[in-house]
Amino acid sequence: METFAELGLKEEVNEALKDLGFEKPTPIQAQAIPHLLTTGGDLVALAQTGTGKTAAFSLPIIEQVDLNEKTVQAFILSPTRELCLQIAKDIQKFTKNLRKIKTIPVYGGARIDTQIKELLAGGQIVVGTPGRVCDMIRRKKLDLSHLKWVVLDEADEMLSMGFKDELDFILETTPDEKQTLLFSATMPKEIARIAKRYMTNPHEIAAGEKNSGAKNVTHIYYTMQHRNKYQALKRIADVNPNIYSIVFCRTRRETKEVADMLVQDGYNADALHGDLSQAQRDVVMHRLRSKRLQILVATDVAARGIDVDSLTHVINFSLPDQIEAYTHRSGRTGRAGNKGISIVLVTNRETHKIRQIERKIGKEFEKGVIPKGREICEIRLMSLIEGLKQVEVDEENIKEFLPAIYENLNDLSKEDVIKKFVSVEFNRILSYYKGARDLNDSSGGSRERDRNKNDRRDKRDRRDRGGDRNYDDDHLKYARFHINLGQKNNINPARLMGMINDIPEISKVEIGQIEIFKKFSFFDVDKEYKAQIEKALNGQDFDGATIVVEPVKERPKSKSRDRKRGGDRSDRGGYKKRRGGGSDRAHRAKRDGFKKKRRR
Ligand code: ADP
Ligand code: MG
Repeated sequence: METFAELGLKEEVNEALKDLGFEKPTPIQAQAIPHLLTTGGDLVALAQTGTGKTAAFSLPIIEQVDLNEKTVQAFILSPTRELCLQIAKDIQKFTKNLRKIKTIPVYGGARIDTQIKELLAGGQIVVGTPGRVCDMIRRKKLDLSHLKWVVLDEADEMLSMGFKDELDFILETTPDEKQTLLFSATMPKEIARIAKRYMTNPHEIAAGEKNSGAKNVTHIYYTMQHRNKYQALKRIADVNPNIYSIVFCRTRRETKEVADMLVQDGYNADALHGDLSQAQRDVVMHRLRSKRLQILVATDVAARGIDVDSLTHVINFSLPDQIEAYTHRSGRTGRAGNKGISIVLVTNRETHKIRQIERKIGKEFEKGVIPKGREICEIRLMSLIEGLKQVEVDEENIKEFLPAIYENLNDLSKEDVIKKFVSVEFNRILSYYKGARDLNDSSGGSRERDRNKNDRRDKRDRRDRGGDRNYDDDHLKYARFHINLGQKNNINPARLMGMINDIPEISKVEIGQIEIFKKFSFFDVDKEYKAQIEKALNGQDFDGATIVVEPVKERPKSKSRDRKRGGDRSDRGGYKKRRGGGSDRAHRAKRDGFKKKRRR
């Protein structure tokens, strides 16, 4: 397949694609589009971020929708509102010459009445996020019973965000006779299960290697002590004066902290996270796209669907809870034929995660050396001097000032002028790095030993250092609650978080671990809000049940550590006992990343 024209799409669409500069289909498009144009069979398509999946599913749909029908014929489910808006916008671009096609985005965080009006006015294609779509279906404003196509975009992300129940609910309302398309960057077991459950003999296509990191991306990890992470980030930014980067953090709090510190330290940085209004996000995104912003600090969720082509670096300030997310993160660089670098900052204790990622992406990491102060100064100086040499002199305009300047500098030698000039630009960075320490934590030893002795070192480290600061911090930070809602009430982490986030007076509370059992659940929230949460939730109605929440006694420190280490340690006494009557599902869900469900 050489060109779009050969695919036999409508002339109006071909024109639009031409305007967008799409010349030939990407590999995933070349496989998916003919399949979808010629068969009604289900399709699973695996391809990395940035491979053109949106056009792969939307062009065939656009080609086949009935323009004279205004019922919803195609529904695209997307995990976040950014992505939802981006897909809707892309489809609107593809259909700009087809006035009869209407695409409606339906997403949370915006006025529902406006969206209801749009839905009532009718449209053939709806793009939506899980929560708002469920809401619309319950309110009977969105009818999916006449669907011909369902698209699950970024299905892996949808599951890792805890939208499984919403997915089930939505798909239940769709007709049996339809074509289901599932798009994903990775194929974890859960996705295979979804495919099995909701799809009929799906045809599977993959562009490029499954689960592999993008070809143009170099992966580098640096080890340092936890408390030196921010300094290391600064050094990386300092040795890359032209950095254009997304820095990924795990929580909103971390995102804000890192962005605030960078701004205070004079970097061109900003944050993107769930606490921002849509308008605020748009401003940040616009600055990033137009390259007026160099460093964007973001959570995974907020950064989903961000489509910026020439990022030089993706920096994992904290690794994601689930390895799949790393593929998404690093896929944001090395796009459109550019080279990209994906950097991971880890403590020695976390290096085993690097091995896991290597296995997943089928590519080895390089171990980076955090630049020393001297090195950074040298690089910055040279870049300054290079810049100086490149500057074009505007003879005309500078002419009239020159005599006074020469006069003034008359007593200084050329060498003195250079020294002073460099100092003006450079004293800040020189004094900052004067006597700066080496931040590399090389106590982990060589790479090979790393691999073999990981476990042993893990234990030793914990003993020597008395545990990682984080564990203790978490223990100090959160209050734990018992709530009388469990699986039987259809509660899930997303709904539980929604409930807490809906408490008006405490919109910014940080949520820690959530554990759902059959008849009850536990959740950790920022201690500060303990009283308000108790007050706000107690007595509320949840699908007919009256909520009772009670603070749980502090858990002993040692247990807290075991628990934080996740399911792989669940064979240890403390955790297992606490799990008590927990079902297999709760255990599985916890292992599969309940920690991820904390509010971002
Ligand atoms: P994915 O969903 O796989 O992450 P997108 O569909 O968002 O990827 O596409 C990534 C980028 O590539 C977008 O900017 C899109 O406009 C562009 N793109 C998609 N298909 C083509 C094509 N055939 N030719 C040129 N650019 C394309
Ligand atoms: Mg996409």
